[in-house]
Amino acid sequence: MKLQRRRFDCLVLGAGGAGLRAALQLAQDDARVAVVSKVFPTRSHTVAAQGGVNAALGNVLPDSWHWHMYDTVKGGDYLGDQDAIEYLCRAARRLVIELEHYGVPFSRLDDGRIYQRRFGGQSQNFGGEQAARTCAAADRTGHAILHALYQQNIRAKTHFFDEYFAIDLLRDAEGHTLGALVLEIETGELLVIEAKATLIATGGAGRMYRTSTNALINTGDGLGMTLRAGMPLQDMEFIQFHPTGLAGLGVLITEGARGEGGYLVNSEGERFMDRYAPHARDLASRDVVSRAIHEEVHAGRGCGPRKDYVELKLEHLGDALIRKRLPGIRETALRFAHIDPAVTPIPVYPTAHYIMGGIPTNRFGQVVAPARHGPEEPQPGLYAVGECACVSVHGANRLGGNSLLDIIVFGRAAGNHILAGLKEQRYHRSLPEYVIDQAVARVRRWDRKGSESVEAVGRDLRATMERYCGVFRTQDVLDEGIRRIVEIRERIDQAGLTDRSRVFNTARIEALELENLIDVALATVSSAAARTESRGAHSRVDYPERDDVHWLKHSLYFREGRTVDYKPVRTKPLTVAAFPPKPRVY
Ligand SMILES: Cc1cc2nc3c(=O)[nH]c(=O)nc-3n(C[C@H](O)[C@H](O)[C@H](O)COP(=O)(O)OP(=O)(O)OC[C@H]3O[C@@H](n4cnc5c(N)ncnc54)[C@H](O)[C@@H]3O)c2cc1C
Repeated sequence: MKLQRRRFDCLVLGAGGAGLRAALQLAQDDARVAVVSKVFPTRSHTVAAQGGVNAALGNVLPDSWHWHMYDTVKGGDYLGDQDAIEYLCRAARRLVIELEHYGVPFSRLDDGRIYQRRFGGQSQNFGGEQAARTCAAADRTGHAILHALYQQNIRAKTHFFDEYFAIDLLRDAEGHTLGALVLEIETGELLVIEAKATLIATGGAGRMYRTSTNALINTGDGLGMTLRAGMPLQDMEFIQFHPTGLAGLGVLITEGARGEGGYLVNSEGERFMDRYAPHARDLASRDVVSRAIHEEVHAGRGCGPRKDYVELKLEHLGDALIRKRLPGIRETALRFAHIDPAVTPIPVYPTAHYIMGGIPTNRFGQVVAPARHGPEEPQPGLYAVGECACVSVHGANRLGGNSLLDIIVFGRAAGNHILAGLKEQRYHRSLPEYVIDQAVARVRRWDRKGSESVEAVGRDLRATMERYCGVFRTQDVLDEGIRRIVEIRERIDQAGLTDRSRVFNTARIEALELENLIDVALATVSSAAARTESRGAHSRVDYPERDDVHWLKHSLYFREGRTVDYKPVRTKPLTVAAFPPKPRVY
C-alpha cells in the first residue's frame, strides 16, 4: 500500500520550547516548516518548567555572562564543551529580552525590570558571592515561554501536526535524512513527511525511572530513533536527580523555593547542607544536594514515620511571599501532600529530573556522528535541539535555569543554520520506497499478539533503573542492571497487544514508547558501567574521585553490540581563556 506523502522544507519533531523556537526562526523567514507533536503543543513538558531561565542581566545583583560561563563549566564538572558554553552565556541576555518582546509575562521588580532569583550553583566574580541570574515568571516560567512561542508560531504560519506520533527517521543509503514516518494518533493512519532538513526536538527520557518529575510523554523517542539509525548517544551516564521531589511521588518542588530563602532540615532539625557545602549551603549544585539528602536518610536522620525523606522549610518566608513568588508550589503542596507550606514543611527526596546526555550535536544543532568508526562529521539533513540533544553545555551536571536557556539559544541557532542550508538546496532528494517499508515494518510488528504485557515490562524497566542506576552507583550493581535490562529487552520482543487494546492506537503508542525507553535505559546503564570515576551527577562509590587524566572525555554509546566509545572534550572557548579543571567545592 502506498502511503500518503507530504513535503516541507523542514520537519521539526517536537513542539516543546526547543522545537517551537527553531520552527519560529524558520517560519519567520518564510520557510515551509512542519511541526509534529504527540500531544497538543502547549502540553509539552516545557510547560512544567517552574523556576526560570538564566541570563546575566544583573537586575538584582551585579552579573556578567563571563561569570555565568564559569558557573556553567564548573557546574558541569568540566565536562561541558567550553566553546558551546561561551556561545550559550553570551547569547542569553539578548534572547531573554527577545522572549519578553514575544510576550512572556516575566515577574517584575519595582522599577519595572525583569525579576531575577537566586538559583543553585550561581556566583559573582568566578566563585564568589551568590548571584541572582534566573529570570522568572512567578514559578510558571516554562508555561509562559511555551505559550508565547506557540502564539508566535501561529502568527508566522508554522504548519502543525498535533497528536501525530513520529516513529522513525527516514534515511537513505548515503546517510541523508529525508524526513520521518509518523502516525496520526486519532485514526492510526501512517503518513510520510519529507523534508530537506529534519530536526529532532523530542525532549527528555525521565520516564525510564519510577519516580520522576517528568511528564508521562518524556519517553526518549528521538533518542531511540537516533540509536536505531546507527548513530550514537553521548554522555548518557549523566542523569540529574533533582534534590526536591515531593517525597514518594517525585512531583517537582522548584529550586526557586530554596532560591527564595527556603532550606532543608533533617529529623534533628539540623540545616545539614552547612556540613556538605559550607559556602553555598542549600544552593549548592543539584548533584551535591541530592547526594547530601541521600546520605542523611541513609544515616538514619530522615524524617517521617519511615525516616525516608528530609524537610524543606518555607514557613519563615510568610504566606504573602509564598503566594506571590511560589504560587504553583503552594498549589502542588496543597493538592498532593495536603499541606500549606506557610504552616508545615514540605517532605522531599531526590527524583529523576533531566538527562544531560543525548544526541551529539555541534553548536549549530547539526547532529555529528562518527561515520562507522571514522572521524566525526555532520549528518546531512539532520539536526537535534533541546533536552534530547547533547551540545554539550551541561557537561556532567546541568545548572537550574540553564535548560530553558539551552532550548532558546540552540533552537534559534539550528533554525538559522537550516535556513542557510535551504538556500543552497532547492530540490528534495528522492526518497526510495524501501526506506519507508523498513520503518513501516516496525509499527506493523505491533499488530501481533504476545505472551508478555507491555505494561508489566514497562513497570519492571522503571523499577530496575531506579534500583540499579540511581544517585549512587557501583560496578556490581550497574553490571547487574545491564543484565536485567537486556532481559527486559528480550521480553519486549515477546510482548504483544491484546485484542481489546489493539483497538486503541494509544496502546500501540505505549508499546513504541517503551521500545525507545528500553534502548535509552540500556545506553544509560552501559555508559555508567563503563565510566570508572565520579564526575557531576555520576557518583561511583567504588571510584569516588574525579579522574581528569583518564576520563576528561565524552562517552558515545552505540546500540549495535552495545559498545561505548569516547571523544575529547572541547576545552577551548571561542574568545576568552579556558577554565581549566579545579577541585569542585561549593
Ligand atoms: C517539572 C520540570 C521543571 C523544570 N523546570 C525548569 C526550570 O525552571 N528551568 C530550566 O531551565 N529547566 C527546567 N526544566 C527542564 C526543561 O524544562 C526541559 O529540559 C526543557 O523544557 C525541554 O524542552 P524540549 O523542547 O527539549 O522538550 P519538551 O518540552 O519535553 O518537548 C518535547 C516535544 O516532543 C514531542 N514528542 C516527543 N516524542 C515524540 C514523538 N515520538 N512523536 C511526536 N512528538 C514527540 C512532545 O509532544 C513535545 O512536544 C524542568 C523540567 C521539568 C520536568
